[in-house]
Amino acid sequence: MHQNAYPHLLAPLDLGFTTLRNRVLMGSMHTGLEEAPQGFRRLAAFYAERARGGVGLIVTGGIAPNQDGVVMPGAAALENEAQVVKHRLVTDAVHAAGGKIAMQILHTGRYAYHRGAVAPSPVQAPISPIRPRELSAEDIERTLDDYARCAGLAQSAGYDGVEVMGSEGYLINQFIARQTNFREDGWGGSFDNRIRFALETVRRVRATTGPNFIIIFRLSMLDLVEGGSTWDEIVALARAVEEAGASIINTGIGWHEARIPTIATMVPRAAFTWVTKRLMGQVGIPLVTTNRINAPEVAEEVIASGCADMVSMARPFLADADFVNKAAAGRADEINTCIACNQACLDEIFEGRLTYCLVNPRACRETELVIEPAAAPKRLAVVGAGPAGMACALTAAERGHWVTLFDAAAEIGGQFNLARRIPGKEEFAETLRYFDRRLNGAGVSLQLGRECTAADLAEAGFEHVVLATGIVPRRPDVPGIEHEKVISYVDLIEGYRVAGARVAIIGAGGIGFDVAEFLTHVEDDRDEIERFQSEWGIDPDFGNPGGLKAPSAERGRRQVWLLQRKAAKVGDGLAKTTGWIRRTLLKKRGVQMLSGVTYERIDDAGLHIVVDGQRQCLPVDHVVICAGQEPRRELEEGLRAAAVPVSLIGGADVANELDAKRAIDQGTRLAATL
Ligand code: FAD
Ligand code: NAP
Ligand code: SF4
Repeated sequence: MHQNAYPHLLAPLDLGFTTLRNRVLMGSMHTGLEEAPQGFRRLAAFYAERARGGVGLIVTGGIAPNQDGVVMPGAAALENEAQVVKHRLVTDAVHAAGGKIAMQILHTGRYAYHRGAVAPSPVQAPISPIRPRELSAEDIERTLDDYARCAGLAQSAGYDGVEVMGSEGYLINQFIARQTNFREDGWGGSFDNRIRFALETVRRVRATTGPNFIIIFRLSMLDLVEGGSTWDEIVALARAVEEAGASIINTGIGWHEARIPTIATMVPRAAFTWVTKRLMGQVGIPLVTTNRINAPEVAEEVIASGCADMVSMARPFLADADFVNKAAAGRADEINTCIACNQACLDEIFEGRLTYCLVNPRACRETELVIEPAAAPKRLAVVGAGPAGMACALTAAERGHWVTLFDAAAEIGGQFNLARRIPGKEEFAETLRYFDRRLNGAGVSLQLGRECTAADLAEAGFEHVVLATGIVPRRPDVPGIEHEKVISYVDLIEGYRVAGARVAIIGAGGIGFDVAEFLTHVEDDRDEIERFQSEWGIDPDFGNPGGLKAPSAERGRRQVWLLQRKAAKVGDGLAKTTGWIRRTLLKKRGVQMLSGVTYERIDDAGLHIVVDGQRQCLPVDHVVICAGQEPRRELEEGLRAAAVPVSLIGGADVANELDAKRAIDQGTRLAATL
């Protein structure tokens, strides 16, 4: 009965020699486990959970066909029989769980972070410190053979197929694009020569693996860089790839060096499915579309409206292994939705750490963070229903404890209720919907509108109290801080106060940036995808190769100054994968960012500051304070005095550098041990 809600998404896909149970492909993600101790055993548990959760076809993180192609020294490659054994752990686990899995073959080319980086031409990538060596004709032949050998080894390891990574600006893409291929031999120059490496890869992989093996080719359908492919070239390449033996074509959007956001939370849902739709009907094999598809209704609509035959989702399977099963069982409202924050997945990987997920700390830690029934169920109180408290209460209740979750506010969510009001962060509301549904289902007694005191809690006889009471915003010691033009970020975002036309923001951390976005965002009645394309310069008509056009000039609706005392560049501390997007947007809107600021006073004239030894007065109507936070833990002392066992989590524990990633992780981990 429930299958009817998503009939297109859940329909099987017949590939002739094999059938996928539905149209859901779990897209390739490098998790870091590929290189970690016992990594393949842990990867097996990670993928098996997703296979049990109903995914139609899993694609692994990228595995290099040779040492030139590894992302960095020591990164995963599949080059010989001895390495097959550990891959068997993965394929056996996935097959035992009823799933199918393909291994992605990724040669990074000039994106490699090691001295052995190679490329069609010795042209350094703007995002890499390394100038690659030009591949000789012999090197090219050897590399093609390495692809074929790698695919053969993957087949003998039990994979159901391979994905040949031909997009995102990696080696194959570097051969295809004019801007990275200046060769004058048979591998460069004309379009036919530039795509020869891609086609030869597919041909040799097919020749090695035989007909009954899935070959996905990930094709860059929108390069988003100067000198990328034209639409006609993309169609011609897709047809040739089919001819060369591919079973499925997956969509690649944007090179890694593109300066256009493609997966961050401010990218509208399904913002790039139009690209795949253009190719529908041009080839005879199934097409997969991708990017910012994170809900079953969106995926269903994408397929039903003819944008693609299959949908690829990657991060949504970090957030919830059971995504497909929940959708199929009519429990889509229980899906833990990926909010596209990148904070615990891509940002962690770029810091050299293992991937996990902000909303699901168990992702990639399936063997380590095990949630088991409590040996002796207890009566627990969790005070504060922000991210830390919600996560703790849910996990504790799932373990069998009797949990009461209190919050002084009328709704759950804590500061996430502020975050979700920031334009471009609307996805954060999904986390609140998830917790609301799950807390209910797990039997947590939710007491909203209850400001707890230590005496109440002690009297109620709880066996353990978890303080998840969050933070209080810091009020800096600036003369005039009591002036009526001073507004706290809470009052501004909640709508208790409205800012005028000229605003200074004291503090340029994550919240200062969000407040600047909030203040400068201009609503209009354009379709959100159209608006996104125009703001960032994406041309759906492919007037230029790569799909670029001039971005529209957007001005903010207010004059805003974003200030910090540190001498470092404003926004330097923002996350690697999203900080540049936030800086670029605010600059486009004319926000003035000043560092090395001393705050002198606030008065009727405005905010008086000193920068570079120069005194000036910013003639602002309002000053919004975003100067960090202090822990809120006034209940602790009273509870300890009454000998009630107490734990502190989230902001109540440490406010400095607090984010929801730490709050949810800490709440879950504490609950796993209570
Ligand atoms: P809180 O969320 O502060 O929750 C504490 C709760 O305790 C509150 O609901 C409060 O009402 C309740 N409480 C306090 N005292 C009592 C009492 N005595 N009795 C009952 N209830 C009480 N983080 C990210 O990771 N990524 C982001 O993109 C991000 N964006 C943000 C944007 C904005 C605008 C803001 C304000 C924050 C953002 N954050 C973001 C930060 C994130 O929301 C916090 O780190 C997180 O909410 C902290 O969780 P917490 O549970 O410790 O505390
Ligand atoms: P924050 O990142 O610590 O930034 C606080 C800002 O206030 C800094 O710019 C700091 O810079 C300034 N400041 C600190 N003390 C001050 C004082 N006494 N007087 C004047 N200025 C002072 O904190 P936040 O912006 O409040 O954010 C809280 C947490 O939420 C962050 O840790 C962040 O991780 C999380 N968050 C994340 C996101 C995200 O998108 N990932 C978004 C929002 C919030 P100077 O000291 O140089 O002046
Ligand atoms: Fe999605 Fe954020 Fe989790 Fe990454 S960390 S999977 S972006 S919710």
